Amino acid sequence: MTGPQTYLNYIQGQWSAASSGRTDASRNPANRNHIIGHVQLSEVEDLNQAAAAAQSAMPAWRRLSGAARGEFLYKTADAIARRIDEIAETMTLEMGKTFAEAKGETARGIAILRYYAGEGMRKQGDVIPSTDSEALMFTTRVPLGVVGVITPWNFPIAIPVWKMAPALIYGNTVVFKPAQETSITAAKLVECFAEAGLPAGVINMVTGDGAALGQALVEHPAVNGITFTGSNATGKKVGQAALSRGAKYQLEMGGKNPIIVAADADLDQAVEATISGGLKSTGQKCTATSRVIVERPVYEAFREKLLAAIRTIKVGDGMEAGTWMGPCANEKQLEKVLGYIQKGVDEGATLLCGGQRPDAAGLADGYFVEPTVFEGTTGMAIAQEEIFGPVLVLLAVDSMEEALQMANDVEFGLSASLYTRDIGNALAFIREMDAGLVRINAETAGVELQAPFGGMKESSSHSREQGQAAIEFFTATKTVFVKA
Ligand code: NAD
Repeated sequence: MTGPQTYLNYIQGQWSAASSGRTDASRNPANRNHIIGHVQLSEVEDLNQAAAAAQSAMPAWRRLSGAARGEFLYKTADAIARRIDEIAETMTLEMGKTFAEAKGETARGIAILRYYAGEGMRKQGDVIPSTDSEALMFTTRVPLGVVGVITPWNFPIAIPVWKMAPALIYGNTVVFKPAQETSITAAKLVECFAEAGLPAGVINMVTGDGAALGQALVEHPAVNGITFTGSNATGKKVGQAALSRGAKYQLEMGGKNPIIVAADADLDQAVEATISGGLKSTGQKCTATSRVIVERPVYEAFREKLLAAIRTIKVGDGMEAGTWMGPCANEKQLEKVLGYIQKGVDEGATLLCGGQRPDAAGLADGYFVEPTVFEGTTGMAIAQEEIFGPVLVLLAVDSMEEALQMANDVEFGLSASLYTRDIGNALAFIREMDAGLVRINAETAGVELQAPFGGMKESSSHSREQGQAAIEFFTATKTVFVKA
């Protein structure tokens, strides 16, 4: 029997070991004794080689037609489709989300690739009438050049794909630095790009310590743009370093997303949306629901229905049939979640359910935590800070005005949801909610690949990803004036 496989970096079309000669074990968060494989612990030297490869591949890649570049994306999508179960299983083993969710995410990656493959054939500019009647004036788009892609562990296929597919279709080459925790899933994704026959150097991947490699990527003079998704603390460093050398950057960061349940809401639907939005992926989505703001006339009825439904949730290994919620993705995340639960208790919130590590047989070696619900007030840390775990805070309000005010009373502004049947409530929410994604009678966590996605306030650098909005980051506009 062979032991766990070792996964390599991908530079200039070749799979290669890190120059350090060192590797890191990737462990299953459902059972930390289970080693999934080994990944490279790269040095800045490896990253420099990847940036040089991306730079040398760029002139030929940008000269291809959009349709020709699109063909590579279609082939990559087909390669992933052939391996969808294997890739989804790797994702579950590496970061814990259930196999059903991992497979759904992988299918989304395929759809994103196909969407952007078609983008190579769509219009990229406008003709603008010149004041000179003999001239032709129009806009066109040019690629940035080399793009650095830095991604988190919570969507190890969808986020890299929704950055790399538009980067490539618009003519950029890529240096990809995935989260170290999900480097094997990332390697399998890059294998699919390689299988599609992407020319050497167009995509390069280097794995290793985020702080050292990520920083080096952001500061690298050959890298023209950085697209980052991750925490606010890291994002701010990335933005500052990019700005200081004039590189373009895009940051998508944290959230503290509210659901408002109005007195006229369908409570069963609102409960389902709160559970799905708040607890799927163990609450580790940037769009996860974490503040549950409920109008007082229905507060008690909603709370009882919510608690009854949460008590039926099966926590376990994401590969096991019947598991609804897997573990936290890593030890650091588990510690953070348990720390916030303690903080909630310390600051006087009422713990309504959960709050413990489950004691069921077979879960002791995993990073599991029970789905947890607090009753609290808006100023508490558990109601203000991103926990990124299966923790909900219930907040009672006396009116819709108070609900909206409370929903906006956080530094983040990524997504928000309202359950109501009242058109007036809905219109006020659309108008006044400070969030990049507002959803009515739908959960906070729902992103469609063809629509712009990004946050307001501290959640983003105010740019948007996905859909046709991606062209804004991955290209520069050129205004052309032509006269005979
Ligand atoms: P993180 O900030 O710790 O890491 C993100 C990436 O940055 C990783 O690849 C990491 O290795 C790298 N990195 C670490 N230090 C760096 C540095 N100094 N310079 C450059 N890169 C560095 O985030 P995480 O824990 O992997 O992910 C969770 C966070 O991501 C949450 O805050 C979540 O809300 C956010 N997120 C946001 C979105 C969105 O679209 N808004 C989507 C998913 C996750």
